[in-house]
Amino acid sequence: MTTNKNKVISTDDIGKELAAQLSTVTPKVLPPADTTQTDGYLYMVFLPADVSMQDTDPVTKVVTKSCVDFCGDHWWANSPSAGHSIIYAALPDIKSCPGTNCYNNNPDWIQASTQAMSHELVEALTDPKNAGWRAQLQPSTCGEIGDL
Ligand SMILES: [Zn+2]
Repeated sequence: MTTNKNKVISTDDIGKELAAQLSTVTPKVLPPADTTQTDGYLYMVFLPADVSMQDTDPVTKVVTKSCVDFCGDHWWANSPSAGHSIIYAALPDIKSCPGTNCYNNNPDWIQASTQAMSHELVEALTDPKNAGWRAQLQPSTCGEIGDL
């Protein structure tokens, strides 16, 4: 059952929601804590049309919004009940994004959504905790494999 019913949520909110929902699942779908293989699952979250993401950079305080500044995001959350992290990616409902920001020259929303989803999928796999593989693009902060 969804606990966060806000219409504007942060990427962190999505992780907290996943952790809350997974803690109630019986039988446990998550593997037990294992220090050699701590992150066995990737969750892809597709937001409903009336829910958007908005994040504030903790250092610069710059606010970024889904459909405007980004078309998907990936992150991780701690899951105390599972004993390890939850890796996830989230996308807004691209069909409902105003304008063509998230279409990236694709003719329709299905192709645009597929492109955004595959972008976040490969980044979540190669850089699941923002400490993985990155190209050394300076001064850009975007150097994950999907950004190249
Ligand atoms: Zn990217």
